[in-house]
Amino acid sequence: MRGIAAAPRLLLRRLREVLAEPISAQERLDKIVDQIATNMVAEVCSAYVLRSDDTLELYATVGLNREAVHQTSLKVGEGLVGLIAAEARYLNLPNAQVHPAFAYKPETGEEMFNAFLGVPILRAGRTLGVLVVQNKAHRTYTEEEVEVLQTTAMIIAEMIAAGGLEPIGRTGTLDIKRPLRLEGLGFSEGVGLGHVVLHEPRVVVSNLIADDTNHEVGRLNDAIEKLRISVDDLLSRSDVAAPGEHREVLEAYRLYAYDRGWLRKMEEAVRNGLTAEASVEKVQSDMRARMLRQTDPYLRDRLHDFDALANRLLRELMGRPHGPAGGMLPKDAIVVARNMGAAELFDYDRDRLRALALEEGAPTSHVTIVARALGIPVVGQLSGVVSLVEPGDPIIVDGDSGQVHLRPAPDVESAYVEKVRFRARRQAQYRRLRSKPSVTKDGQDVRMQLNAGLLVDMPHLEESGASGIGLFRTELQFMVASSFPRLSEQERLYRSVLDAAGDKPVTFRSLDIGGDKVLPYVRQSEEEENPAMGWRAIRLGLDRPGLLRTQIRALLKASGGRDLRLMFPMVTDISEFERAKAMVEREKAFLKKHGYKLPDTIRLGVMIEVPSLLFQLDELFNLVQFASVGSNDLMQFMLASDRGSTRLSNRYDPMSKPVLRALKLIADKASEHHVPLTLCGELAGRPLEAMALLAIGYRSISMSAASIGPVKTMVLDLDVGRLRSRLLPRLEPGTPAADLRLFLKQYAAEQGITV
Ligand code: PEP
Ligand code: MG
Repeated sequence: MRGIAAAPRLLLRRLREVLAEPISAQERLDKIVDQIATNMVAEVCSAYVLRSDDTLELYATVGLNREAVHQTSLKVGEGLVGLIAAEARYLNLPNAQVHPAFAYKPETGEEMFNAFLGVPILRAGRTLGVLVVQNKAHRTYTEEEVEVLQTTAMIIAEMIAAGGLEPIGRTGTLDIKRPLRLEGLGFSEGVGLGHVVLHEPRVVVSNLIADDTNHEVGRLNDAIEKLRISVDDLLSRSDVAAPGEHREVLEAYRLYAYDRGWLRKMEEAVRNGLTAEASVEKVQSDMRARMLRQTDPYLRDRLHDFDALANRLLRELMGRPHGPAGGMLPKDAIVVARNMGAAELFDYDRDRLRALALEEGAPTSHVTIVARALGIPVVGQLSGVVSLVEPGDPIIVDGDSGQVHLRPAPDVESAYVEKVRFRARRQAQYRRLRSKPSVTKDGQDVRMQLNAGLLVDMPHLEESGASGIGLFRTELQFMVASSFPRLSEQERLYRSVLDAAGDKPVTFRSLDIGGDKVLPYVRQSEEEENPAMGWRAIRLGLDRPGLLRTQIRALLKASGGRDLRLMFPMVTDISEFERAKAMVEREKAFLKKHGYKLPDTIRLGVMIEVPSLLFQLDELFNLVQFASVGSNDLMQFMLASDRGSTRLSNRYDPMSKPVLRALKLIADKASEHHVPLTLCGELAGRPLEAMALLAIGYRSISMSAASIGPVKTMVLDLDVGRLRSRLLPRLEPGTPAADLRLFLKQYAAEQGITV
């Protein structure tokens, strides 16, 4: 039983020869188990492959009865083999038969074997099967033997993933091709059918077996050294020197980059004959397997950090640049990511991007809003999705139900093709509503406007029948650009937007950058701990007047001879509005002096999205010519809940007394001061929420194009006076804090209103 430590490299060399032979996948697997048994001096070596019905089928063996191959199978969780698959952990037993999980399979003839070593066959953290060696003698396998078996299991995993090992004589497929249905939350409606593109592509290691182990040890050490230097460098850079989440992550990276256990495991794998990159992959795969089983969010995050670091190391070794998916996108790309910033979404060709599936994310985070504006379906909070997919897998993202179907069965796929057709028919119905005036049953006019941000959004104005652009997010132009848009470029865009809108009014919002809307070409001078409450929007605009002045000038020039409506985001104190207004006046005077044609009318307004404004409403409405409630930010600050937080996204309901009272107060004051008021946050685009907004006094709402149809359907069926009389008493002090959402749902059902 000696000589094991010297043998692994020899074994891997043999396996490489087997991999190169022009034989079928089944023959290859037969030869592999044979080589393992010989090399490890084991009397049995068997490979079980996981099928899509959660069954482990014996695919190859030496030592057990050959007739049992493709006949014997165990359920995941059944017997020792099933236990290894269920827990993705190896078992090393001197006497397997006394283990409580031992399941006797008479056809295999395994009763005479006592010692048992079984390891999961893992790929990117997924269990694809189980590899076992057995001996008659009672013995415990050494750590080195465990390592050798794990290493060979990795090679088998790549073989399974490469295809060719189809189930024999039974129906069903291998687990790696198994259709999966994942439950998440629908963030942006619509259905996308297509193929998986990983936002952060896994580095595919194709060269697994080393020619020269010493050389590989050297490569691994060099790469680790470079990794450490790059993490140290990042940490010493002034822009990440400040405390904050970003720095914490990097600190964790540094800790792990020096983690002895991690390095030891990788070195061991190299010494056993793997290439440096294959050893990183092997250790990473074990880590992912642990991550998938981990429920503690803190530990999961830490494992994710390790995973990210291992990816960096792989890229270092393989000379690949860091960063998002490059190269050609398939025609029907469904991008799968842990999470993503709004700006990164623009890296993808919109014509090819069908949908987004995120492991994290929140319904009012900016990436969601941008996706919604672009009409891209999004499902978020899909636990473990990144590990479960393979690039190129067929996938369906259903933003309406929050479901994702991975490798869908043909009947699921055809059901969805039908659903897409049905949606198209419904959209056609909505289009028929386009020219109908949006008036409630009791004769109240409701202005329905569109949220937009790019020129490509403009055709929606005509298609949806919206009465104008209620919010034009000017920062989107900056986010899609690779460098700062110049005055002339800004002017050109604004002019084209106004041209496209024709007679319909457009409300521009000045730049809302900062926070999580970072521009890739602007280096922030200071990392902020709470960027949403940091140096963003009008704060940045007033402190960097060059930026805001240029934008104002571009807007004034583009609106020459027409009407300009401009509002400022994140106003906290009304003096900020006054300063911004003074800037507009100065620019106006400048343009006039230089003979430019000025706008016929200029209306200036604010976004109400910081709670402090609620306590200055009289002063505010005396100053501004219009206002628009940014409920996304207003909610996050009122409820002290980060709008991008996955865990808080469902915690507080905006359809609650405090929120509705606050929104009603704004509507009441605006009407008292005769100031036109709109609400342009995501609340306006959801029929039930929009119904409540109408009841508390809103008559102008702005939303994404896809929401116009469903919200208008609700408006046409609503008697707003009746709902108001039922809802307002429920907001009074002394009334119990009843479930207002439930009340609204019941009301809608009672009145036959679709929400
Ligand atoms: C809001 O905060 O509600 C809003 C409309 O602005 P944004 O979502 O762009 O922050
Ligand atoms: Mg906002």
